Amino acid sequence: ARKGKTPEEVVKRYLQKVRNSPEEDCTICMETLLGPSGYKGPGVASVSRAESVGRLAQCGHLYHLQCLVAMYNNGNKDGSLQCPTCKTIYGVKTGNQPPGKMEYHVIPHSLPGYPDCKTIRIIYNIPPGIQGSEHPNPRKPFTARGFPRHCYLPDNEKGRKVLRLLLVAWDRRLIFSVGTSSTTGESDTVIWNEVHHKTEFGSNLTGHGFPDSGYLANVLEELKAQGITEDEEQQ
Ligand code: NAD
Ligand code: ZN
Ligand code: ZN
Repeated sequence: ARKGKTPEEVVKRYLQKVRNSPEEDCTICMETLLGPSGYKGPGVASVSRAESVGRLAQCGHLYHLQCLVAMYNNGNKDGSLQCPTCKTIYGVKTGNQPPGKMEYHVIPHSLPGYPDCKTIRIIYNIPPGIQGSEHPNPRKPFTARGFPRHCYLPDNEKGRKVLRLLLVAWDRRLIFSVGTSSTTGESDTVIWNEVHHKTEFGSNLTGHGFPDSGYLANVLEELKAQGITEDEEQQ
């Protein structure tokens, strides 16, 4: 979708024109919407009029056009935009998960808290590699620790729904990222992105195990924050 589109064109797709700017501050640059953008830095040269203001079509939040373009340029430029105030996603959000494999199967055991059903085991495997332009340190190697990583869901209706949405998240490169591990402190390594997984099967020594009666609802919320909901399954 982004082919041939400049960052300014991508951003403008999601905006409505604002004729009279209100007396509010732009929450990206903290300057008034009545004046020019206060954003200083790379990636703003392409915007024609520094003073123009846009309204995000769905949520209605207002920003300097130049600030939105700068924000877009600082991201992975996938044709999508996320409102920094309310997190509404415009277009299809994708991430920078490195290449790898996602597999799953049903195992004939029950998770603590789900005595009446079997268990879905997901296996993620990502090898180490070289960072791309979408990563923190392009051309530098990244490590990949603790793979294959095994994750568990109850094999019931809600668990299978989570699985379907995780498959979408995987395709959109949103399950893992490259960065600094908060557990180990290692930089330039594969880390979990913002969708929590249960990596412990029969116990809960790490806090990433069962029982956890709120988990399925939480992970559905986290997927929603990445723009992945049940409604998309039809698309
Ligand atoms: P991280 O520590 O930067 O944390 C990112 C997110 O993942 C956080 O939300 C955190 O709560 C969650 N998370 C942390 N540990 C988790 C776990 N064990 N199971 C499920 N979610 C977890 O991300 P990271 O470095 O990718 O995660 C650390 C985990 O990765 C380790 O606990 C381990 O399971 C695995 N790991 C294994 C090795 C190894 O050599 N075996 C090395 C590094 C990491
Ligand atoms: Zn601004
Ligand atoms: Zn908004």
